[in-house]
Amino acid sequence: MGMINSITGKLDPSELGCTLVHEHLRTRSESVFAQFPHLYDEENEFQKAVEQVNAAKDRGVQTICDPTVMELGRDIRFMEKVAVATGMQIIAATGIYSYHYIPPHFQNRSIDYMADLFVRDIEVGVQNTSIKAGFLKCATDAQGMTRDVEKVIRAVARAHHKTGVPIMTHSHPASGTGLMQLDILEEEGVNPNNVLIGHCGDTDDVDYILRVIDRGAYVGMDRYGILRMIDTESRNETVIELAKRGYADRMFLSQDYCCTIDWYEPEAVKKVNPDWSFTFIFDKIIPELKRNGVTEEQIHTMMFENIKSWFGGQDGSKTIHTIHDKGSYTEK
Ligand SMILES: [Zn+2]
Repeated sequence: MGMINSITGKLDPSELGCTLVHEHLRTRSESVFAQFPHLYDEENEFQKAVEQVNAAKDRGVQTICDPTVMELGRDIRFMEKVAVATGMQIIAATGIYSYHYIPPHFQNRSIDYMADLFVRDIEVGVQNTSIKAGFLKCATDAQGMTRDVEKVIRAVARAHHKTGVPIMTHSHPASGTGLMQLDILEEEGVNPNNVLIGHCGDTDDVDYILRVIDRGAYVGMDRYGILRMIDTESRNETVIELAKRGYADRMFLSQDYCCTIDWYEPEAVKKVNPDWSFTFIFDKIIPELKRNGVTEEQIHTMMFENIKSWFGGQDGSKTIHTIHDKGSYTEK
């Protein structure tokens, strides 16, 4: 794959730089917004997003991948406004975020119909604009591989084949859904090297994560600051252990932060996840990882290099070799 679609234009992989692979400028329950728009303060949401993006920029972030898709309130004009106001390279996604159910519109139509819509987002533009999506997103949570969720994953796989853009998932490690996603994607002929299984850091079961890595996929240690499933210390221990075993070239560090999210009362979010932000990994996590033996080179691999390979659709064979060559990690 050559150039990458960002909101404000095409990017060469070499222009990505330090990248946060999984963050949200805004998350909304889109049906609630459609019916009760008076509940929302667009100006406040915009200010909060700009504030966080600028803070990330101060830490050296050059690119943010935002997997806000259908059912998370994707609004490409809002994302463009934030990208223009901050100068950040922001990459939008296409796909559907659902744990169990898709609307009847899709239930009663084919997988290829859905795939064609995703392809349109990537090749023509999102929401009647010419702003193109740069990657694909699907989700499988505790409900497992429901009929509707499987349909989305197959559609994402087919859109990937037509466009070459990579696939990011939302998974639920406690239910092993990352492996189920890989089963379906591989059945559709997707090379796991083009797949990032998101939220693997929500477990400290290193063996489970290694099973995902051994299939050839990337893993998202991408929810730093969210304390609901696992504490920060446990997230760190897993990353340190995997880095020690030579897997820095399979991991992404990110926060899954939402500058605003309407799922909860705002005060409740802050109370439960006090450190959650676009900058937590730079301010607290990376220094802590380094104190525990993760090298500067490995941090660089996770923050600068893996993103190029994921977007680049690099041939998996080289990586597989590195994986089996445990303990003798060398920069590719
Ligand atoms: Zn997310």
